[in-house]
Amino acid sequence: MRTIEVFDTTLRDGLQVEGVSATVDDKLRIAEQLDFLGVQFIEGGWPGANPKDIEFFARAATELRLDSSTLVAFGSTRRPKGKVDDDVTLRNLLDANTSAVCIVAKSWDYHVLNALQTTLDEGAAMIADSVEFLVANGRRVLVDMEHFFDGYKRNPEFAMRAIESAVVKGASHLVLCDTNGGSLPHEVESIVGDVVRLVGSDAIVGIHCHDDTGCAVANSMASVLAGARHVQGTLNGLGERTGNCNLTTVIPNLQLKLGMQCLPDGRLERLTAVSKHVAEVLNRPLDPQAPYVGSSAFAHKAGLHVSAIARAKDAYEHVDPELVGNGTRFVVSEMAGRATIQMKADELGLAMDGPAVNQVIDDLKRLEHEGFHFEAADASLELLMRRAAGWEQQYFRVESMRVITDELPSGQFTTEATVKVWVGEGESAVRHVHTAEGNGPVNAIDSALRAALGAAYPQLARVHLTDYKVRILDGATATGAITRVLIDATDGERSWTTIGVSSNIIEASWRALEEGLVYSLLHATPSAVSE
Ligand SMILES: [Zn+2]
Repeated sequence: MRTIEVFDTTLRDGLQVEGVSATVDDKLRIAEQLDFLGVQFIEGGWPGANPKDIEFFARAATELRLDSSTLVAFGSTRRPKGKVDDDVTLRNLLDANTSAVCIVAKSWDYHVLNALQTTLDEGAAMIADSVEFLVANGRRVLVDMEHFFDGYKRNPEFAMRAIESAVVKGASHLVLCDTNGGSLPHEVESIVGDVVRLVGSDAIVGIHCHDDTGCAVANSMASVLAGARHVQGTLNGLGERTGNCNLTTVIPNLQLKLGMQCLPDGRLERLTAVSKHVAEVLNRPLDPQAPYVGSSAFAHKAGLHVSAIARAKDAYEHVDPELVGNGTRFVVSEMAGRATIQMKADELGLAMDGPAVNQVIDDLKRLEHEGFHFEAADASLELLMRRAAGWEQQYFRVESMRVITDELPSGQFTTEATVKVWVGEGESAVRHVHTAEGNGPVNAIDSALRAALGAAYPQLARVHLTDYKVRILDGATATGAITRVLIDATDGERSWTTIGVSSNIIEASWRALEEGLVYSLLHATPSAVSE
């Protein structure tokens, strides 16, 4: 089986994405996840470009225990007309103290002449000198050939000279970068083929694609088919503009479709969990439609073929979802028939008899008519099905909830909520009353409810809301219309969505919040409870 190296640059290129900022702690946690997944290389950042990355490498040296991955520091070639020994960038690279380094080099003549304002001879010398210096200092040196495809199309001679300058000085990898992301698979395949023939067995040829044409994964696969043995990308395709090559797509493509080994044995099934975990750390929700790892990737909407899916799942799924740690999911709506409800019950591990199934069908029809939408709220659906089967939540009983918003003479708004709940049964039930402030009514009732339940259920401290969506269902009556609220929450391991519908937005939010906490208590792991 052919082996393909996976080089993850989530912590460097991936963090260029708009609206994301990661602390050093976040970066360390992501690096642990990448090692758990088993990628070969983790590019940790650019020491010298910012103090955060210097701190990352310093702490990584003592705090990170990597079993599968090699940590890589990123930098660039020496500056034009400079000397390697007193070059600050190269010095910072060595100070990061990693066994491997990756430097970016200019392989497009246009950039050398215009951006660096130097000669092509000096451009080639910058690459050769820098690689030689780093190799002499005991580093494995990967060279990112920036703008390689654009450069090769305009001046193939200089692009190949840049490659040779790195190879003769001992670079281990030549990574061809589609930095502007504008290339297409047929171009990439042909150019990578040319480079592989030139380099032969002197170094490994790699590929680094951006997704500006929506082809980053396709381009990476075309490169591998043309002989590249090293693929760079990011988890969930994070990266500036339209993102980088998505490793959560390209890894299973290479491994499951082309039979190439990208991760150590037994690691591919961690893919979905790692993808979710990283989305969570960066507070960047995962696209439900992401191939392989998205929550909809193996979701089947109820229809005529639902019983056929039950008989032959593989007739409707391109791979077994368990291979990537995902699972088949049946999407249930008012259109669902008995077979769908029964399959959903099996998926949830619920025993449901005929009358209970009929009850669910009746409830769904009635509630969806009122404005509920259970396709989007799996947790509320599960609670509804459990109730139809005779289950009642025993965790708490709400006596009352009140929320007040005041506008002060200064023009400032304050919001305060009071929640009264009972925890426990009969004589031994305990009443908890809590008041909390919030930056708005939903935030205040959420805080007050958790505070009221916190003493009895400390595990709720782990739960936090990740999204709050409001939709007005009947636009014609404007503020008098029905409001549908969807709340996404997570406890760090599991994520869920609950729904509330009412003509009162606070009531709709409250129902969704309450169900979200019930769901989290229902699924709290024993270890979480005892903490
Ligand atoms: Zn890049």
